[in-house]
Amino acid sequence: MIENSLLGAIPRKAYQRLLGGLEPVTLTFGEILYEPGDTIRHVYFPGASVVSLLTLADGHLALEVGLIGRDGMVGIPLVLGHKLSAVRALVQGTGTAMRMASAPFLKEFARSPLLQRELYRYTHALMAQISQTAACNRFHVIETRLARWLLMTHDRVKSDHFRMTHEFLGHMLGVRRVGVTRAAQALQQRRLISYSRGAITVLDRAGLEAAACECYKVVRDMHEITSAPAA
Ligand SMILES: [Zn+2]
Repeated sequence: MIENSLLGAIPRKAYQRLLGGLEPVTLTFGEILYEPGDTIRHVYFPGASVVSLLTLADGHLALEVGLIGRDGMVGIPLVLGHKLSAVRALVQGTGTAMRMASAPFLKEFARSPLLQRELYRYTHALMAQISQTAACNRFHVIETRLARWLLMTHDRVKSDHFRMTHEFLGHMLGVRRVGVTRAAQALQQRRLISYSRGAITVLDRAGLEAAACECYKVVRDMHEITSAPAA
C-alpha cells in the first residue's frame, strides 16, 4: 500500500520508475531534516510521519509556517530549481516516510510530466497553506490556532493519539509555553481533547472543528480543489 498520497496519485508506470530510488525510512520526533541554507540532499514523502516547516528569526525564535504529512513532499525547493532550504524542516510526528536522494529525484522529475503535474499542484497547495498561516499567526488567538493545528496534525497522522509537548507546541505556534498550557486546558475543559504527559488524544473531532479558526477549512478546501485532477 502506498501511504503517501502524492506517490499514490502518480500513474503506475512513473511510480515504478521512481521506486528504484525510494528508500523506506523512519523519521523520529525532533529530528531535523534541513536547516535554513542547507543543501537539500534528500526529498521525503511522509507516510505516517509529520514534518513541520519553521521560519527562524533572531537566530533562536522559530515559528511554524507549514505542515507536511502524507499529503505532500519535503524538499519542494528542488521542484522549483533551487537546491537550498529556506526553512528548518523538523520532524514533529514519528513515523514512516519514503526518502529519495536529490540527484535521482531530479532526473526522474525532469523526464516525467505526470510527476511534475502532481508536484506543482502540491507546491501551490503548500504555498496557500503558508500564506494562510501567516495571516493566522497575526490575527487569530492561540486557542483557535491550537485547535487548527491539532486538526491539521490529526488529518495527517490518521490516529486519535499523538505525542506533543507544550514546549514544542510553543515553537509551533510562536507563543510562550504558558499560553499553550492555557489554550490546551481550555480545549480540555470543553472535552475536545485530553492531554497527559506529552500525549494528546482527540476526543471530539467535530467540536474541535467548531473551535478552530476558519483557516483550517480554507486550507483544507484549497487542497481539495488543487488535488482534484484538472478537467
Ligand atoms: Zn487562523
